[in-house]
Amino acid sequence: MIEIKNFINGEYTTPQSGIYIDNYNPSNGIVFSKVPDSNEADVQAAYVAANAAFEGWKNTPAEDKFKVLNRIAELIDLNRDKFAAAESLDQGKPLWLAKNEMIRAAQNFRFFATAAMQFSSESHAMEDRAINYTLRQPLGVVGCISPWNLPLYLFTWKIAPAIAAGNCVVSKPSEFTPYTAYLLGEICNEAGLPKGVLNIVHGLGASAGNAIVSHSKIKAISFTGGTATGRHIASIVAPSFRKMSLELGGKNPNIIFADADLEKAIKTTVNSSFLNQGEICLCGSRLFVEQSVYEEVKSKLIEAVKALKTGDPSDPDVRVGAIVSKPHFEKVLGYLKLAKEEGATVLTGGKALQPVGFENGWYIEPTILEGLNWDCRTNQEEIFGPVITITPFNSEEEVLNWANSTEYGLATTLWTNDLTRAHRIAASIETGIVWVNCWLLRDLRTPFGGMKQSGVGREGGWEAMRFFTEPKNVCIAL
Ligand code: NAD
Repeated sequence: MIEIKNFINGEYTTPQSGIYIDNYNPSNGIVFSKVPDSNEADVQAAYVAANAAFEGWKNTPAEDKFKVLNRIAELIDLNRDKFAAAESLDQGKPLWLAKNEMIRAAQNFRFFATAAMQFSSESHAMEDRAINYTLRQPLGVVGCISPWNLPLYLFTWKIAPAIAAGNCVVSKPSEFTPYTAYLLGEICNEAGLPKGVLNIVHGLGASAGNAIVSHSKIKAISFTGGTATGRHIASIVAPSFRKMSLELGGKNPNIIFADADLEKAIKTTVNSSFLNQGEICLCGSRLFVEQSVYEEVKSKLIEAVKALKTGDPSDPDVRVGAIVSKPHFEKVLGYLKLAKEEGATVLTGGKALQPVGFENGWYIEPTILEGLNWDCRTNQEEIFGPVITITPFNSEEEVLNWANSTEYGLATTLWTNDLTRAHRIAASIETGIVWVNCWLLRDLRTPFGGMKQSGVGREGGWEAMRFFTEPKNVCIAL
């Protein structure tokens, strides 16, 4: 049994309550780790450590911050296999995918290590009257809360810019996937990150998470997770006028026009629908295909999806692993039941699976549903599993209306070789990210985030550095 510990002031500690939560291996449904059920007292200890470290870290020269963050990146790279094995065990994702994600976790630190060196203030000269400059100062102690779908990838995406900008952090990974964040503490110490700069408190959202967002001295909250949780967090953080960045759910459209490179569109759609069991906020869950190529795309897609192997995450041939937890598995199955009630035809998949030797794990066949109206619940609510709907469309106007019909606005994937149309749709679609003829092609300098109920604020590049700093205008009369 693995015992996960909190990481406070550079030391691994047990929860003050002495209580632990069972954590399951999704591939076989067996408890394999104990996670601290931390409470307000643990969060307070983390806050005290972070606050004590702040002055020192804030005043650490940028080049030294760069060296430490870059060293953390190197150590993640060096320990990639160990981290990937932990991530796959905890989350249920295929091991090969976890290995890819560890590259990105290291890259997050490397990217923001260089940001620490490059971040600079602007100055504005008012002719011969005055000179203004903008000081961008770290906020102090900030809170970072992340979800279970891309555990270390999203955890580091928050804490790396927070630290690079000179803040100290109280963080909480998801209680379903704490393992890699737990391993990260050791690496931070080895890299020479001063004690207290990063504190990791494990536990439930309702207790540990709530204690972080309710802590009046924690100056900003960077949260990634579900829209309902985000709404709750906003109701706590907004009245005290603390900064917040919310990266929330999605119900992303994937639109294929007849003029697109269909081979490429279909191949990428298999990935954009089912990578990580469809548990990526950026997965396209509503596929719209232009009527004239609908039957062709549909039949080729079904064929490709039927060939995806679902099962043991450590099998290199497996493309779809286990669903992260029993409650989430049941939620996705609930949506499959609802879809059938709403009149869906199951083109492939549609049910749970018990792979030989892994009968007690949580597996769902990659599923394509047809015949649903654009406005039914299956097409409006986030399922966050290996389930997509496919719908034919007749005109650009029609598909744009359907694409924009949900309360979400995270990401669009658009397949067309008509450049004018691509620009036109990109300008009018209501999502924070638009991929044209590609999916999940990420440049870490770009603003990342959603519109509508998919979030508030943007992460990435200077957006993240600006979020984690307070701009101050200094005006000097000449
Ligand atoms: P979740 O909202 O249940 O939990 C996310 C994190 O918040 C966890 O660490 C959880 O413990 C914590 N939390 C829960 N309740 C809390 C509370 N009251 N106060 C403080 N913290 C609390 O989300 P999840 O199920 O872990 O993740 C799936 C969701 O995340 C999906 O909706 C998905 O779309 C979204 N997501 C969004 C993005 C994005 O960038 N927009 C990326 C990944 C996932």
